[in-house]
Amino acid sequence: MYTIEQIRSLIQTGEEKDFYKSYAWQRTAAAARKRQNNECQRCKAKGFYNRCEIVHHIKPLKQRPDLAYDLDNLECLCLDCHNEEHMGKASESSGYTNEERW
Ligand SMILES: [Zn+2]
Ligand SMILES: [Zn+2]
Repeated sequence: MYTIEQIRSLIQTGEEKDFYKSYAWQRTAAAARKRQNNECQRCKAKGFYNRCEIVHHIKPLKQRPDLAYDLDNLECLCLDCHNEEHMGKASESSGYTNEERW
């Protein structure tokens, strides 16, 4: 299992894929999938079923490496919901940048 410091340095060097490849993460993700019935939690909330394709960090790894292996910080998502989640955040932050600029 990576320590918080190791995760921070992986992020700084752009190697966070090493975190996702690690055995400790694979095991944690498997536990999260099991706990959430291997089902997309966003789709479930909307009343339909999609299989979990990604185990997403609710509080991003960058901000909270201490929650990297915390099951309460993990959410099973399908690819569509995961893309939406990250694209939504990206457009929010670029909107913010524009606001600052003007
Ligand atoms: Zn979904
Ligand atoms: Zn994600």
